[in-house]
Amino acid sequence: MIKSYVTGFGRIGEQRELKKVLENFWAKKATKDELEKTASILKKRHWKYQKDAQIDFISSNDFSFYDLVLDTIITLGCIPDRFKGLDGLELYFALARGQKDIKALEMTKWFNTNYHYIVPELNKNTKFKLNSQKIINEYKEAKENGIKTKINLIGPITFLALSKTNDGSCSFELLNDILVVYEELLEEISKLDDEIFVQFDEPIFVTDFGDKIVDKILPVYEKLNSVSKNIKIIFATYFEEALKAVDELVKSSIYGLELDFVYGQKNELALEKIAKTDLTLFAGIIDGRNVWKSDIDERLEFVNKISTIIPKDRLVLGTSCSLLHVPFSLKYEDKLNKDIKSWLSFALEKLEEIAIITKLANNQELNETENKIYQENKNSLKTKSTSTLIHDKNVQQRVKSISKFQREKDFAERIKIQRQILNYGILPTTTIGSFPQTSELRQVRNAYKKGLISKEVYEDDIKDYIDNCIKFQEECGIDVLVHGEPERNDMVEYFGEQLKGYAFSKNGWVQSYGSRCVKPPLLFGDVSRPEPMTVKWITYAQNKTKKIVKGMLTGPVTILNWSFVRNDIPRGEIAKQLALCINDEIADLQNSGIKIIQVDEAAFKEGYPLREVNVAEYEKFAVDCFKLSVSSAKASTQIHTHMCYSEFNDIIKTIEAMDADVISIETTRSGNELLKIFAKVGYKQEVGPGVYDIHSPRIPNTKEILNQIKALLEVLPKERLWINPDCGLKTRKWEEVKPSLINLVKATKLAREL
Ligand code: GLN
Ligand code: ZN
Repeated sequence: MIKSYVTGFGRIGEQRELKKVLENFWAKKATKDELEKTASILKKRHWKYQKDAQIDFISSNDFSFYDLVLDTIITLGCIPDRFKGLDGLELYFALARGQKDIKALEMTKWFNTNYHYIVPELNKNTKFKLNSQKIINEYKEAKENGIKTKINLIGPITFLALSKTNDGSCSFELLNDILVVYEELLEEISKLDDEIFVQFDEPIFVTDFGDKIVDKILPVYEKLNSVSKNIKIIFATYFEEALKAVDELVKSSIYGLELDFVYGQKNELALEKIAKTDLTLFAGIIDGRNVWKSDIDERLEFVNKISTIIPKDRLVLGTSCSLLHVPFSLKYEDKLNKDIKSWLSFALEKLEEIAIITKLANNQELNETENKIYQENKNSLKTKSTSTLIHDKNVQQRVKSISKFQREKDFAERIKIQRQILNYGILPTTTIGSFPQTSELRQVRNAYKKGLISKEVYEDDIKDYIDNCIKFQEECGIDVLVHGEPERNDMVEYFGEQLKGYAFSKNGWVQSYGSRCVKPPLLFGDVSRPEPMTVKWITYAQNKTKKIVKGMLTGPVTILNWSFVRNDIPRGEIAKQLALCINDEIADLQNSGIKIIQVDEAAFKEGYPLREVNVAEYEKFAVDCFKLSVSSAKASTQIHTHMCYSEFNDIIKTIEAMDADVISIETTRSGNELLKIFAKVGYKQEVGPGVYDIHSPRIPNTKEILNQIKALLEVLPKERLWINPDCGLKTRKWEEVKPSLINLVKATKLAREL
């Protein structure tokens, strides 16, 4: 009999209950009891949903108040010294969010997802000490609710691989020490039941780095496996293929192995090998990180294929990764177009898909509800293949006939023309686009969205904001102005809302970090731009000043990377459609007299694939798309781009190939060190390395900005350098922004005289 599993379940709650209680707790408006009570309600509810869907392997310890890597830090007791004296929840949240003078641990993206984990901070003196409470309690809690769970743990190798050390040592020197604690933990777990499944998440083995350390797998897992006969270990990977790890695991005596067959289709190559062992295969066949319905018949065919190789009693079907990465349920989506809704599947709906496919694969009969869902699945896929909501011949035709990716002249010629027209001197100053998003501004936008205030009232408020923004920039003496982006809630959503082919869920929240959730727009169909999206506000701002106002757009790659994207046509195709929308917008801005246009690619680097073999393809598609989107710019129109990071060493050639006239980047925190790569490769275009860090409320003084400019001048010639903050100012307050920019302009004036 084939069984079913779920890698892990989300935790934020269908109404973001966890978010709300957490934020109240931090604001001292909720007690610890209330926090724990909500947690227990959520866990119970999530277990019940999975149980009702007849999932065989349901997890415990997939719940967390903040993040599972952080929980693992607590479990292993490897707390950096600066947190000494703190304990319990106070310690827990201090690690994640800092406390007074104690700096929080770093946070970074979980593989290629938009979820962030807390980075363990270790050094060669780190001592580990087991704290198994949460894990043991959660198992018992589930059992009281009638479920014998598999216990989810972050595996020791992935834990160390994701850690950073603060003394330059290699975290793997701690491997033996950490294993002792894992063994102790397993011993405690083994007392819980006669048979107990433990899932070790080891996603590091889907990366090239993982391939280099596969020799650690056998020693570690043979050791862990020998702790107790009661324990059955499942080694879990997701997001990509893990073939090299499989080569090791087939030699081991652990119970099972979880592979992603959605994002790691190459894993199929391992099936024969696995068949020859006793390993149970947990096959991730349902997309755990995208929102579209699976084609049940197609998936079933795939399962039937696998089950001719792997015996059915050693096959378990489930999600490709934790359902943490998709929204909770479609049940609140009463505003979505009926057809679009019928194409979607969030976490709860995915549970049904798993249940149905498992039953069908076992030749079991579906009950009435399941049968209905199965029929709806077939029908919705049929409408999907022909729906005019999705398929737009004009868009497809236009993509086919694209011939021009290149701007009219090369950079050397363009910049001469631009300098004549724009007439800027050395070290021109500008900002990245947004100005403070005040709570009044948010209220106005919300009120307008809900129909509580009229368009006139709303637009007057936006105009006021822009007027003030322009006035301040003029007074302050900035050279290239921006309108401040008051009309935008989010740099992707704003564009998505105006594009055909996009839909928005009401409740499609996904945890990004801690209590923070995002609601990525749903790119479901061929994308086109019915009307100009930004021209009105940019030209309004331009008409208020004699200085140049920079038009502000989000680039196609970033729009793509921050949306839930349809999977029925190649990503490259979709990106081209988006690029054409931006291309048209640039043409319109240009025709309305806008001379500088910035195309933000904040998420350009995020989209990089996990494995090197796929990098060239991604780079080509990303560069092509960006170039296509700006190819409507005349030689005289200056194209800027902005990227939110500072490490360009690996990708400098790609950045150069994008051929933007000016790029602004986030170098502040690294001085001029990281900038050297631009000089080293002979980067020709102009660069605006951030001269102060906008992520902190601190106001930089003139002297330190001047020093930063001096440092930059050591690397790049003053003729090619722009002076700007290192990112948009929307998260800052006016009281911080004003003096900071005044100091920036003062410092620049001093620098020009050097
Ligand atoms: N123009 C955007 C802003 O200033 C860019 C933000 C970003 O790249 N993250 O807010
Ligand atoms: Zn940025």
